[in-house]
Amino acid sequence: MNDAGAARAAAPGAGRPRVTVIGAGPAGLMAAERLAAGHDVVVLDRMRGVGRKFLMAGRGGLNVTHSEPMPAFLGRYRGSAPRLAPILADFPPAALRAWCEGLGQETFVGSSGRVFPRAMKASPLLRAWTRRLEEAGVRFELGRRWTGWRADGALSFLDAEGGAHAAFADATILALGGASWPRLGSDGAWTTTLRAAGVEVEELAPSNCGVEVAWSDHLRARFAGTPLKRIALCVGDDVVRGEAVVTARGLEGGAVYALSAPLRAALAREGGARLAIDLRPDLSVDALARALGAPRGAQSLANFLRKAAGLPPVAIALLREAHGRDLPQAPKALAAAIKSLGLRVTALAGLERAISSAGGIAWDELDEELMLRRRPGTFACGEMVAWDAPTGGYLLQACLATACRAARGARAFLAAREGRIE
Ligand SMILES: Cc1cc2nc3c(=O)[nH]c(=O)nc-3n(C[C@H](O)[C@H](O)[C@H](O)COP(=O)(O)OP(=O)(O)OC[C@H]3O[C@@H](n4cnc5c(N)ncnc54)[C@H](O)[C@@H]3O)c2cc1C
Repeated sequence: MNDAGAARAAAPGAGRPRVTVIGAGPAGLMAAERLAAGHDVVVLDRMRGVGRKFLMAGRGGLNVTHSEPMPAFLGRYRGSAPRLAPILADFPPAALRAWCEGLGQETFVGSSGRVFPRAMKASPLLRAWTRRLEEAGVRFELGRRWTGWRADGALSFLDAEGGAHAAFADATILALGGASWPRLGSDGAWTTTLRAAGVEVEELAPSNCGVEVAWSDHLRARFAGTPLKRIALCVGDDVVRGEAVVTARGLEGGAVYALSAPLRAALAREGGARLAIDLRPDLSVDALARALGAPRGAQSLANFLRKAAGLPPVAIALLREAHGRDLPQAPKALAAAIKSLGLRVTALAGLERAISSAGGIAWDELDEELMLRRRPGTFACGEMVAWDAPTGGYLLQACLATACRAARGARAFLAAREGRIE
């Protein structure tokens, strides 16, 4: 609808309350699905295709949720756990798996406890999902960027050519995502719009991302791209076992991503963060010291460390990088250095390549049904709300569960307005 026709014109779903969902990522699509019955639902997105980031998420194996017990599961959301607990109780991992299976995508639990669709990709699920939405009457308007509200309350949009459009809605679901991988659609520009409307929005910051370390030229040239397997990483009291990869600018990989939250906090507090690598997490300092007590003979230090401590060349280079000529020689001190190799992280890698973003609409701005307290009838869900979680399926689980809750809120809001009881 263009500007001139923004009045409440008769629409395909005339007679039924109109719900506008902005953002065609997993959160927006789930909200649309939950509202399709009984409402005229239209989903708008600034991109020309739906679920662009969701499709990208499926590239490396779509991890939809996790199988661990709920107390541990909830703990992954740290400070947001109390707000998310009732929301996840209404749409728990088992419900998510059943929902996938309803779309013909059987799921399985991997060895790490993570849950994947058998197809591993997002595309078959997304195809079946959009088909089902269209069959339920949901309409899509793509290539429409939401820019805010007009003075008369209409939602305003710009098309790709810069043409202005506006639409009234009886209820609105905002599902605009965070700000990672902006070229896939969610660029976080909505933060300015909502702040201008008086809504408190926490700064969007990279999460589940790599870290920057000022490597020497030698380490960068020789080892960028080399994996560090079976290590443990530690920031303060947080310890994560897993893998990382040395990059030209620092480190990436699952174990690094999982420490985004404590690293972000340390960087904000101190301007730098200490990341300790345990290069042999399966051995105690004493056991390692015993192995390092073996006579070295004529072996070079690198050969000795490789044989006695089982360290690969990249680990030995990291030890040299951290200690230089002061690398301890005594077995116990050398073992301690191997078990706690300190790196100084100077920054988190940028949003362009982060898997997700932390920050977003402050929880206090949202009621229990995820309605914006300052804008009755407008609800928010997905990654644009200020929760954060590591990879492992926790991101999609919370996106979909918050979407179900926002949809429930919108349904009740519209029913109450019409004097109906849901
Ligand atoms: C490489 C990669 C791998 C990932 N792997 C996993 C995984 O395995 N498991 C997991 O749980 N999570 C994973 N994620 C994270 C997951 O994809 C996101 O958390 C999830 O897509 C967020 O869903 P959302 O609907 O809230 O937002 P998004 O998916 O970002 O969707 C938001 C939509 O809003 C649109 N939009 C934004 N601004 C506007 C505007 N002003 N007007 C109109 N439209 C707008 C965007 O175009 C976008 O389509 C991965 C992410 C990446 C980048």
